[in-house]
Amino acid sequence: MATVTRRGFLSLAGIGTAGVLVGSELGFDLAQATQIKQQLRIAGATEAHSVCPYCAVGCSIIAYTRKAADGSVKVLQIEGDPDSPVNEGRLCPKGATAMQLATSDRRVEQPLYRAPGATAWQKMSWDDMLDKLAHRIKDSRDRTFVATDKKGNLVNRTDGIAFAGGATFSNEEGYLAAKVMRSLGLVYLEQQARV
Ligand code: SF4
Repeated sequence: MATVTRRGFLSLAGIGTAGVLVGSELGFDLAQATQIKQQLRIAGATEAHSVCPYCAVGCSIIAYTRKAADGSVKVLQIEGDPDSPVNEGRLCPKGATAMQLATSDRRVEQPLYRAPGATAWQKMSWDDMLDKLAHRIKDSRDRTFVATDKKGNLVNRTDGIAFAGGATFSNEEGYLAAKVMRSLGLVYLEQQARV
């Protein structure tokens, strides 16, 4: 197998560049290239910057969307953000499928509840689900609240509830969540970035 030295490689690269320049002289049509670009399915789309929600790496993503005549918004493409120092435009296979979070026909679009011992899930409205969560939190806190420890020290803690923040929490959301949870007496606080 022939070996290519660094000097030889650079020479070949120089020949390649010259080839492109000669190609333009031979009729390479820049206007046509621009036209092809304009035909991309993301041409004219709205570009939104966000963070992949799947894991604590926190890769930056760009979502391209377009508004239809009926006012609905269609997600056209999701890809890595090349300006991100975290992922420099790359996404792992899981992050690369993030578009399915919005477009998959298997997406769960409303809260589902499975009662203790039941095998089936039932649909529930957001209002009912939030009420249920609030009652569960209150009940658990009332049941497990510890005012003083075995040595009589004042601790005011809720041992029966734990909280885990998500990978896409901003600093402010994380701060607010920690404040709310600590005000309930929670001591078991975690963040997906450390799991
Ligand atoms: S793209 Fe992959 S590595 Fe990056 S945040 Fe998403 S799941 Fe994690």
